[in-house]
Amino acid sequence: MTVRTRPDLSRIAPYVPGRSIPGAIKLASNETTAGPLPSVIEAIAEAAAGANRYPDNGSVAVRDALAAKLGVSADRITTGCGSVGICLELVQATSGPGDEVIYAWRSFEAYPVVVKVAGATPVEVPLTSDYEHDLDAMLAAITDRTRLIFICNPNNPTGTVVAAEALARFLDAVPPHILVALDEAYYEYVRPDAGAEAAPDGIALAEGRPNVVVLRTFSKAYGLAGLRIGYAIGDPEIIAALFKVHLPFAVTSVAQAAAVASLAADAELLTRTDGVVAERTRVRDALIAGGYDVPPSSGNFLWLPLGDQAAAFGEAGVAAKVLTRPFAGDGVRVTIGDPDENDTFLAFALGAGLPIWKASQQD
Ligand SMILES: *Cc1c(COP(=O)(O)O)cnc(C)c1O
Repeated sequence: MTVRTRPDLSRIAPYVPGRSIPGAIKLASNETTAGPLPSVIEAIAEAAAGANRYPDNGSVAVRDALAAKLGVSADRITTGCGSVGICLELVQATSGPGDEVIYAWRSFEAYPVVVKVAGATPVEVPLTSDYEHDLDAMLAAITDRTRLIFICNPNNPTGTVVAAEALARFLDAVPPHILVALDEAYYEYVRPDAGAEAAPDGIALAEGRPNVVVLRTFSKAYGLAGLRIGYAIGDPEIIAALFKVHLPFAVTSVAQAAAVASLAADAELLTRTDGVVAERTRVRDALIAGGYDVPPSSGNFLWLPLGDQAAAFGEAGVAAKVLTRPFAGDGVRVTIGDPDENDTFLAFALGAGLPIWKASQQD
């Protein structure tokens, strides 16, 4: 190639999305199986008819609806092209070359991408042996170059939660000039039963802590992954900083309309999460009864720590038309789908998948 691109691009591994294969069930991307509600599809169609106009760059209708729902003022809210878009904005607003961004590992696949795209340096702190954030090690990783810390809560892909009290202690120990992003993409799936007795609410924790920002999304429980809209809640100064690096018009008019309609149908959509939570328990119990070790999950997914056998499990799943998300050398994340999909997954995991799991236990 003769065009000069940034030399550091060679160190950025492209984001690898979950696979889709016609005829296979997709439990690879933590999506909801059910499509948008009829009222939301109607709002999408109406907004599509006005697609000749640019969207409202301030997402005023969405922010007002969120402000009313969450009980915070609209100047504490901003939207992004998915919460991934806001992750990138957070790095761009805080960090440049030489600056460090801390996050746990393994965690959300997009963190290393957005940190490196912004030219900053990722600092990955291993999870504990219980697949949880190691908050003490994360504190110890802070240097005078640290600008931003991501806490993925619940953690994708392990499903573990940092409890409210431990998180509050951590936040009080982080120097106030370092921004902490609480990524709560799976907030709506947290229940008091799954190892999360004191389920943290980032919005309450961000109240009175101007260096804490909370990320949530319409992609998961609200079922709008294809439209790309997420949001952040935090101090108005942080929100204003994010808006400075925001790609103009990154949140489409269709996404905004769908988000407003989804918030109007809030109760119905959130009730659906109860079904996912019940299935999460059923699938986990069945896997454990079959001999698997599965950490308790507070997301719409489960983590199978398969180590060196993770890739083989994923490939065997492809052959059985069950698409999961293998992370080679580490584990496999499987999304909780509808009951039929989960039965198909269980038939695979307790059949062709079982010897692969057993082999992982002998390593
Ligand atoms: C899915 C997910 C997101 C949200 O992605 P969108 O860009 O909003 O679709 C953010 N953080 C984590 C940890 C996720 O798993």
